[in-house]
Amino acid sequence: MEEPAVDTLLELDRTLLWHPYGAMPAALDPLLVTGASGVRIEVALPDGTRSELIDAMSSWWSAIHGYRHPVLDAAVRDQLGRMAHVMFGGLTHRPAIELAARLAQLAPEPLRHVFLADSGSVSIEVAVKMCLQYWRSLGRPGKRRLLTWRGGYHGDTFHPMSVCDPDGGMHSLWRGVLPEQVFAEAPPDGFEGEPSSAYITHLADLMHRHAHELAAVIVEPVVQGAGGMRFHAPGYLKALRELCDEHDVLLIFDEIATGFGRTGRLFAAEHAGVAPDVMCVGKALTGGYLTMAAALCTPRVAEGISRGDVPVLAHGPTFMGNPLAASVALASIDLLLDPAARGGATWQADVARIESGLRAGLAPARGIPGVKDVRVLGGIGVLQLERPVDMAAATAAAMRRGVWIRPFRDLIYTMPPYVTPQDDLARVCEALTEAAAACH
Ligand code: PLP
Repeated sequence: MEEPAVDTLLELDRTLLWHPYGAMPAALDPLLVTGASGVRIEVALPDGTRSELIDAMSSWWSAIHGYRHPVLDAAVRDQLGRMAHVMFGGLTHRPAIELAARLAQLAPEPLRHVFLADSGSVSIEVAVKMCLQYWRSLGRPGKRRLLTWRGGYHGDTFHPMSVCDPDGGMHSLWRGVLPEQVFAEAPPDGFEGEPSSAYITHLADLMHRHAHELAAVIVEPVVQGAGGMRFHAPGYLKALRELCDEHDVLLIFDEIATGFGRTGRLFAAEHAGVAPDVMCVGKALTGGYLTMAAALCTPRVAEGISRGDVPVLAHGPTFMGNPLAASVALASIDLLLDPAARGGATWQADVARIESGLRAGLAPARGIPGVKDVRVLGGIGVLQLERPVDMAAATAAAMRRGVWIRPFRDLIYTMPPYVTPQDDLARVCEALTEAAAACH
């Protein structure tokens, strides 16, 4: 069958399809992707040519092994030969059971009970529901607010939106509609160094004042992603753990972006050596192949819920525990953890290689007018500008280098697949630097 012209497809796209944070009809055409392999996506341009772009975004943190990985392709194909989907109410299957066992084994102790959700936002909804229901079951239904710090991002459904950054954040238009939460200041910038005692006093003060109405504290550990790509010292997580214990408040870590090695530890909480009561993972869970996330909780939370007058966790999406997604998630975790399957390198070595490549490759950007800050942690590299990014100019400059980026606000950043070869990584760094220069 003849392929429709790129223009024809884009015209339909513009008038029919909403894209993330998009207008209807769309103001800017997206790129038409026709395939993806290794660390590259292939795009069809309106002039009839095709172009390959290195994906510096790992499809928003998820494609940590790149695209069309033979091991992951095989996992999906193999599972497809058995069943693509089956309802999870009253039925179960081996991929979901084995995935739960693997997550429980890898997650910080004592997280061990696993809810398989179908997106990151839904896993946050489930995490919040777990905490609210826990206190309700214990006869303290007044404990139903959340404390978070400013500058966060936890997703696009209603509870996640209520704990996103309330000011500069993407969901400020919903102020007055969302549940009212308690906001601490964002933690001071910088991964290195000792935590500020003044900031911990600020947290302690808020916890002291609001503990009676707080179900949980929810934060992104170590890296605040879509809220501003900021890094903070792990010591604040330890302080939060202590404050939560002292004030009888649960602690949720949102590891949806940071989980599975992105910050140099399997889970970012490991930098602090503390475990939350509930932890959410998503994105890289399936290596970016299929939509699945998970909320893990401790026996304390699960037992609390089961003591209530409604002793079940009342949540059960149609596609819960999807076998294709669970199979590829298992394969992705195995691929991450098995150096033999990764050409001999551990994932830690791969992420450390990406980190040092980003440090060296992005350092020259410090000298570019209009660049306010350059920061790198694990497989994450960020250029922060003094002014908002000129999206069109920045993406065009990166594309001239053969690299796909998706800047936002004043940030041009990358979190490339862990398997990105050295020369491609160098191109990613040049592309980011040139994108920053193009905004001046
Ligand atoms: N939490 C964090 C830290 C995220 O970065 C995201 C997505 O960017 C989410 C939650 C929401 O996940 P999803 O987009 O899968 O709903």
